[in-house]
Amino acid sequence: MNSLVIATKNQGKAREYREMFAPYDIEVKTLADFSTPIKINENGTTFLENATIKAQTVMDKLGVPVMADDSGLVVDALDGAPGVHSARYAGDHDDQANNNKLLHELQGVPTGKRTAHFHTTIVALKPDGAKLVANGRVNGRILTKPRGENGFGYDPLFYVEQYGCSMAELTAEQKNAISHRGEALKEFLDHFAEWWNK
Ligand code: IMP
Repeated sequence: MNSLVIATKNQGKAREYREMFAPYDIEVKTLADFSTPIKINENGTTFLENATIKAQTVMDKLGVPVMADDSGLVVDALDGAPGVHSARYAGDHDDQANNNKLLHELQGVPTGKRTAHFHTTIVALKPDGAKLVANGRVNGRILTKPRGENGFGYDPLFYVEQYGCSMAELTAEQKNAISHRGEALKEFLDHFAEWWNK
């Protein structure tokens, strides 16, 4: 059976991707399945650059098809910040610190100017050089205080107009149906078979 490596150690992401690839007779692996140490220097300035760096680094090491993604929150009033720095805006993957900093930076900014979106770029590479890129986004605005307990990251501060609540007040199913990652995955899967069989 052919295998596709997802450039992540996050078991939550791995589970989602395994479900997605179930119809394709493809074994999904993650970095946790390999003992080879892989140092990824994620120093790009765009989501596309970072996703490409991750996919390329892992493919160069393992020599198998690889898929990587990069996501973040883009806030208009902050000229696109935190953007590619979303995970480490205030502290390393410290959601609470990151959310506090976001609220602080937006202090005094009125509701109409608190527009933002989440973005995901997926990049998949095969050893023969074939590349597949997909993008997704979801629009919203940043609340003045957190709402909801679900999700992760900036979800409690991200108000989704179409549901009239924060991203952290949605069920996982509702979030996946509209999220940046969900949208990018749909686009990715639309072109996946063509890329895989190329
Ligand atoms: P990653 O590239 O998917 O690891 O995402 C980078 C960072 O962006 C995360 O650590 C979060 O801070 C933020 N982020 C990405 N996706 C989401 C989301 O769905 N909800 C809230 N925050 C997110």
